[in-house]
Amino acid sequence: METDLRECVFCDVITARRNSAGVSFPEQEVLRISKSGRFLVKPGLGAFVYGYSLIFSLDHVLCARDLDAVDAQELSDFVSEEIRILRSLTGSPVIFFEHGSESKNHITGCYDHLHIHLLPLQVSILDDLIEELGFPVEYSQDFFARTSMRASSYIMYGDISGKVYYFFLDRVLRSQTIRQICCQRLGIPDAWDWALYPNRDCIASYVKSYRENAVVHD
Ligand SMILES: [Zn+2]
Ligand SMILES: [Zn+2]
Repeated sequence: METDLRECVFCDVITARRNSAGVSFPEQEVLRISKSGRFLVKPGLGAFVYGYSLIFSLDHVLCARDLDAVDAQELSDFVSEEIRILRSLTGSPVIFFEHGSESKNHITGCYDHLHIHLLPLQVSILDDLIEELGFPVEYSQDFFARTSMRASSYIMYGDISGKVYYFFLDRVLRSQTIRQICCQRLGIPDAWDWALYPNRDCIASYVKSYRENAVVHD
């Protein structure tokens, strides 16, 4: 595993908050940690929809493609369980996506440290993604099917239909591309930038509901 704390914002945050007992984040920043302690789910800044969450690895891994089979399976299970919880708390279908980087060059328009965005959304954005990124490869059975992937940066997209698509990238994406596409779809085209619109009230309200109502099965 490659670690360069000076160049990874996520690692900076995690390292600053690790202590001898594990990882200690401010209460509102952690919803749940996976059984092995390798993955964590937290509310995402820039919650333009209620329930927007991020799952990320506590160790520095570039993207899900770089996980070994055991960790990939654990991540798949953790993502599936969080989608189930998110659906039950919001009553909405959920999409998810990953900016999978081949290297540290921000080609994907997001941070180069494994993280999965989860987003309650009533509509599919598959057509919008195809228009922006070209045609994808479909992997319905396995979120993190690594063997058939080329060594390439990618966007992984889990649709409300339950199908999972990989878009392989041959050019640099603008910042927060998928969030921009979602906001266009929702008719709130200016809301995509988490730095400008963090929506902390929406986050606090979701965290409260999660603490009170989330039923975890694993
Ligand atoms: Zn990192
Ligand atoms: Zn991202």
